[in-house]
Amino acid sequence: MDFNKIFSDIYNTIKKVENTGKVAQYIPELALVDPEKFGVCLVRLDAGKFHFGNANEKFSIQSIAKVLSLTMAYEIKGEKLWERVGVEPSGTAFNSLVQLEYEKGIPRNPFINAGALVIADILVSELENPKKEFLAFVNQLCHTKVNYSLQVAESEKSCAYTNKALINLMKSFGNIKNDINEVMDFYFHLCAIEMTCEELSQTFLYLANDGVCPLSQKVIIDQSKSKRINSIMQLCGFYDEAGEFSFKVGLPGKSGVGGGIVVVRPHKFSMVVWSPRLNAKGNSFLGTKFLELFTTKIDYSIF
Ligand code: GLN
Repeated sequence: MDFNKIFSDIYNTIKKVENTGKVAQYIPELALVDPEKFGVCLVRLDAGKFHFGNANEKFSIQSIAKVLSLTMAYEIKGEKLWERVGVEPSGTAFNSLVQLEYEKGIPRNPFINAGALVIADILVSELENPKKEFLAFVNQLCHTKVNYSLQVAESEKSCAYTNKALINLMKSFGNIKNDINEVMDFYFHLCAIEMTCEELSQTFLYLANDGVCPLSQKVIIDQSKSKRINSIMQLCGFYDEAGEFSFKVGLPGKSGVGGGIVVVRPHKFSMVVWSPRLNAKGNSFLGTKFLELFTTKIDYSIF
């Protein structure tokens, strides 16, 4: 399949669509990103790699990191993890507070902010040096050196009013065990990892390969857990747009407010699209359109 031609054909189609998306403003450092950037990378399990546009420029992966922190925590805690966080779609915004009070501080799933804060709390309990060990975990998956952007982490910390409300509410219900500031600091750092489309698609290939990193052949997570993480991505990866994304794109995936989207086609490939302008639900406007046309054109859905 000529992916290079497919990517440029789809790009030429979607660039005619008026992009009504807006770059994330609530994290001041993210508001400085050039809104016109656009990159794609697809990495196949059988070693083919295809790029388009700004695929080798670093961007803030933000909530995409929640899949990686979940993987780490799930491997450590096993099924006991689900006593503290659910696996149901939330149908609410990524930073919503509304369900959390009704549901007694147990977040709906690990990909909304509340759920990712609980996962961060678990890793703070379990790891000796969470920031260092998390980075080492990511580096072994992508086989290059990635790092945190300290500016982005600090920038988010300076105005994290909603995340502070979420974590305080969960602490009051007993679902945060560590010091709130320590957990938030770790959470902001993991969101502030910077990667290129190529690094990120390489990183996610273990979820297309039943939990095994194809570069090192190391088992990152067992097959059943890998399948379950994919199913959570399918149902919860796009907040209150998860149904529409599944309807249009048909692949498990995860978005971030840095404008990245990663999707996984089990047993075939992982793919990342980056375009910083976000739609009203906080997902990349052009990235979603690109993936919709891509899976329509190549018939690569899991269904
Ligand atoms: N760091 C961001 C936050 O907590 C991540 C949100 C996202 O990417 N959806 O708000």
